[in-house]
Amino acid sequence: MLEPGELARAVRRRWYSCVWVVLACTGLLVGSVSAESSRARLVTIGSGSVGGVYFPAAGVLCRLLNQERLRHGLRCAVEVSDGSVDNTRDLLGGRVDLGIVQTDVQHDALMGIGRFEDTTDGAALRALFSLHAEPVTIVSRLDAAVMGFTDLVGKRVNVGEAGSGTFATTSMLMRAFGMSGSDLARQYNLSTAEAALALCENRIDAFVFVVGHPNATIQEASESCAVHFVSITGAPVDDLLRKHKFFSRAMIAPGTYVGQEEKIMSLGVRASVLATAALDDSIAYEMTRAVFSNAAALRELHPAFASLTPQQMIDGNTAPWHPGAARYLREIGLLTE
Ligand code: GLU
Repeated sequence: MLEPGELARAVRRRWYSCVWVVLACTGLLVGSVSAESSRARLVTIGSGSVGGVYFPAAGVLCRLLNQERLRHGLRCAVEVSDGSVDNTRDLLGGRVDLGIVQTDVQHDALMGIGRFEDTTDGAALRALFSLHAEPVTIVSRLDAAVMGFTDLVGKRVNVGEAGSGTFATTSMLMRAFGMSGSDLARQYNLSTAEAALALCENRIDAFVFVVGHPNATIQEASESCAVHFVSITGAPVDDLLRKHKFFSRAMIAPGTYVGQEEKIMSLGVRASVLATAALDDSIAYEMTRAVFSNAAALRELHPAFASLTPQQMIDGNTAPWHPGAARYLREIGLLTE
């Protein structure tokens, strides 16, 4: 059993190694572009901001795909973005081939509601597989006395970047609790890395992040200043869980972060990997194959994937399967339809 401090160090060591993975896959390491790779078909994945899990997660997916580059002729690269909403729009606009998207954002895009009220294009989204669970996570300054969601009223709060899923989910939660952005002393749209710094410098009181755990940015904040993790419970949460299948109860295990000795209760979604119907079947097939045939390596490559099971990886999607992904999932017996 690791002590919290040791856990933090282990997380950081592993996370740094993931950063190298990402650098390697995105071709930022000098000399990585060979004559072979310049002929390969480039496959891009929309991820998130550098301080989240999507960015290293996309790096892991690229690494798994790239390791068989000579066989399939694909070369994968990671795109930085604001997160789920940006990735969905980039997918629908043909600017990326794949995108990591929260399952609630996926649902709204597919239905043309919420952030996607302006378009029916979301009907073209197709699912490859799901990844880690993402609890809605509120980190506050200990001295800000935020004990529950409604204590955010009158506080300086970072609700996520404009194109993030965090912002979309936080807006939905605020509505469920009968609140809006104007109830906050000030609403910020910083990246989470910036928000963690702002929190410890007392420029904000709290930030929300819909994210897998453990992650480096929250770890950093919990080590740098006195923070509190806010449980999100109550009738509005029960209501959301009843109404929406994409939400489930979520928990941050005790000792995940420095000073967080209690379990934190919340609701959460899942991160999913999407394409559109326009993506070649062979690309969706190869990416799905790369991930499922290396499930043990996947669990090792980022701590947020540590307990991911193949069954969880086919849960949570409302978009139809991409035919290329479905073909592989049927081959290995995970899909029977
Ligand atoms: N779920 C977040 C979003 O879509 C991103 C989390 C991450 O970067 O790991 O905004």
